[in-house]
Amino acid sequence: MSNALAVVNCAQVVTLAGPPRPRIAAELSELEIIEDGAMLVRGGQVEKVGSRREIESLVDKDTEVVDAERRIILPGFVDAHAHPVFAGTRANEFEERASGSTYQEIAARGGGIQSTVRATREATKSGYGLTVEDELKILLAIRRLNDETPLNFVPTFLGAQDVPPEYRSRRDQYVSLLIEEMIPRVAQEKLAEYCDVFCEEKVFTSDESWKILSAARCHGLGLRMHADQLSLSGGAKLAAELNTVTADHLEHTDAGGIAALKSARVQPVLLPGSVYALGSSRYPAAREMIEAGLAVVLATDFNPGSSPTPSMLMILSLASTHMRMSPAESITAATINAAYSLNRGGAIGSLEAGKRADFVIHDCADYRELAYFFGIEHPWRVYAEGRLILTRNQSATDERR
Ligand SMILES: [Zn+2]
Repeated sequence: MSNALAVVNCAQVVTLAGPPRPRIAAELSELEIIEDGAMLVRGGQVEKVGSRREIESLVDKDTEVVDAERRIILPGFVDAHAHPVFAGTRANEFEERASGSTYQEIAARGGGIQSTVRATREATKSGYGLTVEDELKILLAIRRLNDETPLNFVPTFLGAQDVPPEYRSRRDQYVSLLIEEMIPRVAQEKLAEYCDVFCEEKVFTSDESWKILSAARCHGLGLRMHADQLSLSGGAKLAAELNTVTADHLEHTDAGGIAALKSARVQPVLLPGSVYALGSSRYPAAREMIEAGLAVVLATDFNPGSSPTPSMLMILSLASTHMRMSPAESITAATINAAYSLNRGGAIGSLEAGKRADFVIHDCADYRELAYFFGIEHPWRVYAEGRLILTRNQSATDERR
């Protein structure tokens, strides 16, 4: 049998094995770690995870063997909320914020999301669009990323991220454009699996969000929502009412909102990177959400304005330092729970037989180091579907071994 790969001599194989559903409450802490473990991969899938001796007994002359040299191995992180397609940066606005301007003041001057919209519309590549053609261009760019890179992207339509300036005085026409043109085309051309709305007093009101997401549901799209990010605007409650798959951000969600999410089994997607980068201290109430039994997810919110980081490790650090989530809870939220929020829980997010062999060998001896060190990246080898896609040979912590 060819095509087999065995990773052996791992200080820890962090499997995240468990029930086939999102993890809640105390389950978030159960990483199912195999000390001195190993893993056998065949045909791009995990075939077996077990002790080193167990896996080595299955190695034949055709098996490629990777010695992890006492490092740790985890499923690849699943980033369930990111805006990876845009043109230009907003480093200039970052400088203004550093000198005291707020995000809202910059937006009022035509900066913020609008400056990325302008840059993206002008670019030959795509990004934040807010017109039919520009939004389709973004989703086509995501489709190309799927085709041309070893990573997997789950596309979400976010034409309702802001009202473009040309519609400011006639916003209901933009809502109609979303409902009557954009959403039907996105669905018909199968360009997205989900539809998302930025529900916020000054962006899309609860009423508008309800209309947009109801239309998306009629066209067969799953629902997600940017909710309660800048104020308590009823976003979490609306998400529960609409039974969305996720409610994202939730920095201002109160106990009533948390209870509503719980009863509708909506997964909260928490994005501490944007709280940090906006210089705010208003982090979402992760502890209360975990205690209420919500299947919490962590993601980067990678975007050029409020969260310019693609680093899941930075997010783990913030979750532990500012949201009182333990490293184990953070890892569960960033892998298996995130996978379920994208309807991929059966395929990724844990290292179990039959799942896609997306995994990372991190240059650490203990999983807690992932959240403990910050400002450095630990990946030593990154694999997607059993194929090596990134190697790093020299690392700051090599000396420990
Ligand atoms: Zn976002």
